[in-house]
Amino acid sequence: MTDKPQITSTGSALVVGGGIGGMAAAIDLAERGVSVELIDIDPEWRVYGAGITITGATLRAYQRLAMVEDIARDGAIVSGSSMFLFNGTHLRDLDEPPIEEGLPATGGIMRPVLHKLMQKRVAAAGVAVRLGITVDALANRDGGVDVSFSDSTSGRYDLVIGADSVSSRVRELAFPHMGEALRTGQGCWRVSMAKPPLLEKGEMFFGHKYMVGITRCGEDRIYLWMLTPHEERETHLADEELVGEMKARLADFGGSAGWVRDSMTSDDWVNYRPLAAKIQPRPWSDGRIVLLGDAVHATTPHLASGAGMAVESALVLSEELTRAATVEAGLAAYEERRFERCRDIVETSVAIGAAQLAGSPPDQIGGMMGGALHRLAGPF
Ligand SMILES: Cc1cc2nc3c(=O)[nH]c(=O)nc-3n(C[C@H](O)[C@H](O)[C@H](O)COP(=O)(O)OP(=O)(O)OC[C@H]3O[C@@H](n4cnc5c(N)ncnc54)[C@H](O)[C@@H]3O)c2cc1C
Repeated sequence: MTDKPQITSTGSALVVGGGIGGMAAAIDLAERGVSVELIDIDPEWRVYGAGITITGATLRAYQRLAMVEDIARDGAIVSGSSMFLFNGTHLRDLDEPPIEEGLPATGGIMRPVLHKLMQKRVAAAGVAVRLGITVDALANRDGGVDVSFSDSTSGRYDLVIGADSVSSRVRELAFPHMGEALRTGQGCWRVSMAKPPLLEKGEMFFGHKYMVGITRCGEDRIYLWMLTPHEERETHLADEELVGEMKARLADFGGSAGWVRDSMTSDDWVNYRPLAAKIQPRPWSDGRIVLLGDAVHATTPHLASGAGMAVESALVLSEELTRAATVEAGLAAYEERRFERCRDIVETSVAIGAAQLAGSPPDQIGGMMGGALHRLAGPF
């Protein structure tokens, strides 16, 4: 039991998907008195080895889960970022003021480290976790949801939350008016490795047709991301080919990006992924089944805000279920508060990617990013 206001509208909830949004929802609902069960399709409940950028808005959301100290300890907190020309010439430092008093400005963390921190909180909140299963059928019936699981078990819950990411099974089963996320024409290359010696803050590299950034994720860890026009053959590259292909695309870069290119090896975690995004059409709930996170607002990394949006959605959902007299009223209020903010982030992220592909000037792209980050700093 915590000092959070307790939820009376909802006795039990099933969370499908134990990623960033699903775990945030499970923690906050359980701490507000809901009996929560969480399932994940991965029998080992892992996450892939990239780093993740934690913006000011994401930190604000994690503060509501009392996790900022954990992120500062096990990840990295910085005061802003440095801008460079792609060849390594320093352009300027950009201080990013905290978006709320008492909050750090911005940061980063390795995904597996964040995942472990959240898993610990899920356990501490008393959430029942079942792994290696998914949902096979969902039916709203008599004020509850009947669920059949892939291991032939079944259950009945006051609420089912689909937080099972971009190819959501819950979405496929219960929301026929929605569809798959759409490819944007760009792909993202990432490498996680040791920190370049001179890097202190986050770094961004401009003036090249490929956009590159480096995020510090701990005392001695960083990840570098690079956005390029997508070519289908890249999705079929074997792991051992990825390092050489990434090095080739970084050929013109200097400074820390050049250091990463020269130092990365096949022992480092390297990944290429085509980008896809979609703000799903309303309604986001059907009876007592609701979606959050990438299942309903999948975005691209341009504003580094997908995780923050997923945590915000989880918090708004539990806040509205606390205020509402019924589950259905809580779900309607959740959607009302979330739709426009998520639509803005998804559509602006996609527009920034389109501007990069069209070769728009850096000032125009910077203006789009600055405007969106300013809006993101507003209340959620
Ligand atoms: C290249 C790239 C870089 C990114 N960088 C950033 C960044 O720097 N900062 C940032 O804030 N965001 C970033 N994002 C976005 C961010 O990763 C996502 O928005 C965020 O992880 C969404 O959280 P989620 O809970 O919806 O999904 P996830 O965190 O993906 O979790 C989904 C979970 O559901 C489980 N699952 C899947 N299918 C099923 C099923 N059928 N049944 C049960 N369980 C299932 C999975 O195993 C997983 O555990 C990036 C995205 C991409 C593509």
